[in-house]
Amino acid sequence: MRGVVMYGAGDVRVEDRPRPTIVEPTDAILKLAASCVCGSDLWPYRGLDAVNEPTPMGHEYCGVVEEVGSAVTNVKVGDFVVGSFFASDNTCEICLSGYQTACIHRQPGAASGGQSEYLRVPLADGTLVATPGMPDADLIPSLLAASDVLGTGWFAAKAAEVGPGKTVAVVGDGAVGLLGIMAAKQLGAERIIAMSRHASRQALALEFGATDIVTERGDEGVAKVKELTGGLGAHSTLEAVGTQESMMQAIRATRPGGHVGFVGVLHGVDIPGGEFFMSHVHIHGGPAPVRNYLPDLIDRIMKREINPGRVFDLDVSIEDAAEAYKAMDERRAIKALLRF
Ligand SMILES: [Zn+2]
Repeated sequence: MRGVVMYGAGDVRVEDRPRPTIVEPTDAILKLAASCVCGSDLWPYRGLDAVNEPTPMGHEYCGVVEEVGSAVTNVKVGDFVVGSFFASDNTCEICLSGYQTACIHRQPGAASGGQSEYLRVPLADGTLVATPGMPDADLIPSLLAASDVLGTGWFAAKAAEVGPGKTVAVVGDGAVGLLGIMAAKQLGAERIIAMSRHASRQALALEFGATDIVTERGDEGVAKVKELTGGLGAHSTLEAVGTQESMMQAIRATRPGGHVGFVGVLHGVDIPGGEFFMSHVHIHGGPAPVRNYLPDLIDRIMKREINPGRVFDLDVSIEDAAEAYKAMDERRAIKALLRF
């Protein structure tokens, strides 16, 4: 089968790789409907995370169950399923509390690399959620988005306590930030301030429910959010980047008593203690427990209430994966879909 392997910063290759097989009785093998490149794949691509050996890439997936291990009972061959980037048993106390990404048995959900035609998923019973029947082909991008970027944006909104009547600010205009806007809208936010300097991303932000656009960044962006909120700041701020600047922008744009939901993978963030102490801002986030939201997200997608697949603005063959990474790195593309 064809699969994407990263050899080092900027070095992405498409190779013939061995088709995965059942290793544990709790595994499932999926034939993927499509694959995609994640913003978090850009950290190693840019040399900001080390690549010590050739690494199969990809952790977002949906597709048809091809084979199941002897212990799998919740999904069967022929089901169309969506999973998340961490496999979880969905039965331990942490899973049952809604934090499947911290499952006491968690493993990488895309054990064999999700940017490939076939995928081994561990803990299939707890990890995979079947759709009600075979989805129409045009829903595949949205279901693929549910497996990470939508679920992650959703968690950011939940962690930031978004709800009816709230004013929400969103830092980051990548796929997760944009889908955080969609989540905030769905969860009833009254006002949604998108922070973005890119025309095409601003357009999508408005389509997803943003009511205001702030183009300034850093402390100038914070001043603008304050200006739009009577000097108070947002009730809820979604942080979908993960840098020092973006995290401080999120904390400073939030009013006392407000909430920051952070889902950008943090790199070198150092929050000044004195400022944090005085801020009265709640901060919660981390790797999104996408599995917790999948049943709800799949339902909204299958009913065509939301169309998160709109974040894919590049749709190419997996053979063009290197160009897909490059386009996202250069911000020419928001998110790339890879077809087999
Ligand atoms: Zn668990």
